[in-house]
Amino acid sequence: MLEQVAAGVSGGYLAVLQSLRRRATEGGLPIYLVGGPVRDALLGVPVKDLDFVLIGDAPELAEELASELGGAVTVHPRFGTATVEVQGDRVDMVTARKETYPHPGSLPVVSASGLEDDLARRDFSINAMALPLAGDSAPVVDPHGGLQDLGDGLVRILHPQSFADDPTRMLRAVRYQVRLGFEIADSTQSDLNATLAEGHVSAVTGDRWRQDLEKIFQEQRAAAMLSTAMALGILPAIHPALCDGSGLNRMADTEGLGPVDYLAALFMPLRSADGEATAQRLNLPTAWLRVVRDTIALKDLAPSLTGVNVAPSAVCRALNGLDTDAVAASVRLVSDPEVAGRLRRYLDEWRLVVPALSGNDLLAMGVPAGPKVGETLQELTAMKLDGLVDTEGQERALVERIISRGS
Ligand code: ATP
Repeated sequence: MLEQVAAGVSGGYLAVLQSLRRRATEGGLPIYLVGGPVRDALLGVPVKDLDFVLIGDAPELAEELASELGGAVTVHPRFGTATVEVQGDRVDMVTARKETYPHPGSLPVVSASGLEDDLARRDFSINAMALPLAGDSAPVVDPHGGLQDLGDGLVRILHPQSFADDPTRMLRAVRYQVRLGFEIADSTQSDLNATLAEGHVSAVTGDRWRQDLEKIFQEQRAAAMLSTAMALGILPAIHPALCDGSGLNRMADTEGLGPVDYLAALFMPLRSADGEATAQRLNLPTAWLRVVRDTIALKDLAPSLTGVNVAPSAVCRALNGLDTDAVAASVRLVSDPEVAGRLRRYLDEWRLVVPALSGNDLLAMGVPAGPKVGETLQELTAMKLDGLVDTEGQERALVERIISRGS
């Protein structure tokens, strides 16, 4: 199976894999491929990235690899982990460790340990398998029935306390369930329900929830994942306002969407005050807070953009200043196709319209310096947008009229 993994990677990934296989085979280094890449290789799907676990000092090995292959290392001493970047590819290496959770939802206390403990601290049986790098044909280390669950299409936690220890695993479960087309095992579903009922969700910081939401936002089937997490009660437990899936439903079958589209879809149905409170719970960064605010604002003003009498200049007045990512996401989120069309044209054409005349031209024509210049430019832009002026000559005539009007 290692050959199959090696055949599917290139560049820095391949260089790291080859060096580690040599160190394991020739030097007896106790190192394993672990987690996602083992799961994906067994499923026969492309391996996205490589994660390794070492019985020993992972940061030290990472430094050695980086100097051998010409890469850079980032070390996270608290967890004994390191990331090596070679030819732009990033590979995670962890020191095999044991984790204990002092209270539900807290960060784990970590100590170096062996492979068994390292696999036992993981989230699901399908992610708790390791492949030795020594030799060509060592069997997969699978102490938790991962192979069986892969075959049966089941996401299963390793012990009943798992979700209480780390409630973010509930979102991870949904991510794998939907991505792989699996089911959540019955006992895992019961433990998930119990964890929700026991209120452990509130013990987890907004940053940690947001990081797992960000992972979902990067998935192809993010809308289905978020809808599932909502239906299971996970999102409403994070904040009760996250309970309306109408925005997500509109995104369900659309391809090529990005994180901001899913963020907007999740927040669009909320009332403004709930949007603020939920954004605060998740400690959203400023750029995302803007998307949330402006998506909700846009939903509230959308009714004013419908009907035959809405001129392009009125659309621009309503939308200018709103985050363009929020407007782009709203093209898919608003229910009225006429409004969606206007948002699209705003993004593609209308917001880019400027008059032929500049501020200096206006001053030269006799518009007094000060706010009048900006106001006149705005008026010219609005007239141009609405098709009332077209050429520079027509703009000049209009300015003459404005000057003689004197207001
Ligand atoms: P993929 O989505 O392909 O599995 P990933 O980005 O989700 O990749 P990571 O989040 O990098 O995977 O996690 C790598 C491995 O670390 C997982 O396969 C899992 O074994 C373990 N892991 C990650 N997060 C947790 C968690 N919250 N609890 C327990 N184990 C975890």
